[in-house]
Amino acid sequence: MAERLLTARTGRVPHHGPVTQECPVECLLSVLSLNSFNPLTRADDAPFAEPRTVGDVMDLCTRRQLRKIRGIGPRRVSEIEAALVLAGLNLAGHQQRPASQEGPAR
Ligand SMILES: [Zn+2]
Repeated sequence: MAERLLTARTGRVPHHGPVTQECPVECLLSVLSLNSFNPLTRADDAPFAEPRTVGDVMDLCTRRQLRKIRGIGPRRVSEIEAALVLAGLNLAGHQQRPASQEGPAR
């Protein structure tokens, strides 16, 4: 019961240790500003569902999809990428499931 109280008390950041891909996106609030977090999690006008986990955000990052979200420009993309790195996630080593028709991004 005591543990429950501890996590409920902060309310904002449910975080509990190292951030992993399985963490809910809310765990990124410890490293990401609400100005970026809010549009990111709403995914307005984006051709994909809103990210629910940190892994979802990493997928969007590595597939260069973040900019398709309304309200996310190049600066916010950089901020989100930096936040993932800051949280200790290995973006460079993150492999999205291979998509057959996708070539190199540039
Ligand atoms: Zn977490």
